[in-house]
Amino acid sequence: MKAIVIRQPGGLENTRVEDVDKPKSPITIRVTYAGLNPVDVNVILGKVNYNITPYPHIPGAEFVGVVEGVTSSKKFKAGDRVVVYPRVYDGSCERCRGGSEELCRTGGVTGVASNGGFSEFFGTDDEHLEKIPDSMSFEDAVSIPVGGLTAYHALSRVGLRSGESLLVIGASGNTGWYSLILGKLKGARTFYVSRKKWVAESGAAEWNKEKVDVIVNSLGSAAWETYMDYLDTGGRVVTFGTLTGREAKLNLAHLYTGERSIIGSTGGTRKEFPELIRLISENKLKSRVWKVFEMSEYQNAIKEYENRDGRILLKF
Ligand SMILES: [Zn+2]
Repeated sequence: MKAIVIRQPGGLENTRVEDVDKPKSPITIRVTYAGLNPVDVNVILGKVNYNITPYPHIPGAEFVGVVEGVTSSKKFKAGDRVVVYPRVYDGSCERCRGGSEELCRTGGVTGVASNGGFSEFFGTDDEHLEKIPDSMSFEDAVSIPVGGLTAYHALSRVGLRSGESLLVIGASGNTGWYSLILGKLKGARTFYVSRKKWVAESGAAEWNKEKVDVIVNSLGSAAWETYMDYLDTGGRVVTFGTLTGREAKLNLAHLYTGERSIIGSTGGTRKEFPELIRLISENKLKSRVWKVFEMSEYQNAIKEYENRDGRILLKF
């Protein structure tokens, strides 16, 4: 089968489309679409020091497909349209047993801690798959594992309630977009900061420096302190990314005298995954696809990533 393969860390020149062995697993899926996310771009460009394994490495955290072959499954058969939970987890450590597979002691992100789905076929099992509802397209389903689930889990961690105000910084990214549409679904008043005017299609209003109860800020260092100033008393900030840098200044007096909280979040739990699929299906929530590239054009997809205007998908 063909796959995008990273021979060694660091840069597009170390990757190419290659023929590799087809996986041998309880379930083999034929990948149809994959989403391109910061994690994949960082892995391919060698920008972040993740513990990438194995090498040579197939990246790809977020993908959907059709069950091709089954040697062992209680739930799936050939022809089922499926979406893959994007985490490696053992199911046995205390974090997994507590329902936090995203914090598994021996786990990690699919496509980082294991080979991923930027390939024609992917080997997996019952534990990692959910069926895609008939009414949902592959193009909408493919944004659920990373973009959708990260936002869903973050809003749950931060305890966003109906009637509260939610500000999303960097709202045109996929997680930002889902934070806005899922926040609105929870009954929050939503505001965004973005240069892209289409973000308003989420139903959010452009932020006009009003104080808010909850901030989703995954931009990292840039203007972190400025946005904190607009967090109301009792407010919470949730972060799951560091796009502009990892360090931020913090006014501790502002934090404790207003009983504000800063919360970290990563990925989502196994239980949240089917919950979110149902929610997105029932409410017909859409992602914003900008461009679709064939596998053979993946280098162009990476090059255009920085200046994208919506989702970039890879087609297999
Ligand atoms: Zn575990």
